[in-house]
Amino acid sequence: MLAADKARAMMLVEPKHFSLTEVPTRGGEDGGWLAVEATGVSGSDVQIWKGEARDVVYPLVPGNEVVGRVAVQGPHVPYPVGTRVVVEPRIRCGRCHRCHQNLATCVSRKPSNSYGMIASVEPPGLWGGLAELMYLDPNANLHPVTDDVPSEVATFVHPLASGHTWAVELPMLQPGEDVLILGPGPRGLACLIAAKAAGAGWVGVTGLDHDSDRLNLAKILGADATINIENTDVAAELANAIGRRPDVVIDVTSDDPEAVFTALDLVRSGGRVVLASTKGNRAFHFLSDVIVAKQLTVRGAMGASSIGYQWATNQLDTDPRIDDLVSHQFPLSETPRALQAAAGLLGREELMSVAVTF
Ligand SMILES: [Zn+2]
Repeated sequence: MLAADKARAMMLVEPKHFSLTEVPTRGGEDGGWLAVEATGVSGSDVQIWKGEARDVVYPLVPGNEVVGRVAVQGPHVPYPVGTRVVVEPRIRCGRCHRCHQNLATCVSRKPSNSYGMIASVEPPGLWGGLAELMYLDPNANLHPVTDDVPSEVATFVHPLASGHTWAVELPMLQPGEDVLILGPGPRGLACLIAAKAAGAGWVGVTGLDHDSDRLNLAKILGADATINIENTDVAAELANAIGRRPDVVIDVTSDDPEAVFTALDLVRSGGRVVLASTKGNRAFHFLSDVIVAKQLTVRGAMGASSIGYQWATNQLDTDPRIDDLVSHQFPLSETPRALQAAAGLLGREELMSVAVTF
């Protein structure tokens, strides 16, 4: 039983319009409840806030990078009340053909099966981390995390898990291979940490003029090169630095269609390209011959796997550098500013990633 019969929630009524509301916690007896401690503000939260996300029905409670404590265990939660956990954003039935193929989406929950993207009309309405309480669906996947770090730092488990899935699992990264990461956002930096931990050889990270602080952090985190693409010929820089093309290129840019061409162009023949960034649903002119001529493998990436989460929760326990990756935190009442900060609208100086804390 919950102590409270309602929870404060930041409801996104329509794009760019938040309303701080109290939502009743009735229903949902099949699942459990999470007392939210902190929620990271992700790129997909920014897209939903701007009204640029697909498959989203408003109003909803955003927030898919959630850390909290089990408040009601329910019949399906394997951890006792009080356990600090992260919740995988994707809710998967485990029985449909997509779940059997280990895809991120699930046939039994449409249009979205992700926390932070499910409409609040679906009972019990609290499907996002920008609320004091979040419903734990019977199919939710939880991972215990250490009590020894602040809650906002623990939200970085989410980007870190994606970094492992995108940089290591999907391209089947082998020790000694070279990796180029396009985009120094939280997920780009997470790809760097994961690739280096997996024994990658040379790892480079690209960014823009306004990314200078993120590129500096990439160096501290072990990047062999950081490249500002606004004033550098990246191909020439690669020739200089490693004398060959990277085996793996990962697109983790924010909404930049050009990055797809850059990735296909810069990867070595026979290499692997991981596309982990959506382009705001826009069409663009595309020449596919480069994929054929270079015999490339191109993988679309969506979210992190459970293996990624297991790796990331371990890493949180042992890697003190993660403390530096969450640069901004806001209380729930200042959620609109948190979204602005994550979107880079409050300036990019010292901006790494953003969390809302309770
Ligand atoms: Zn399914």
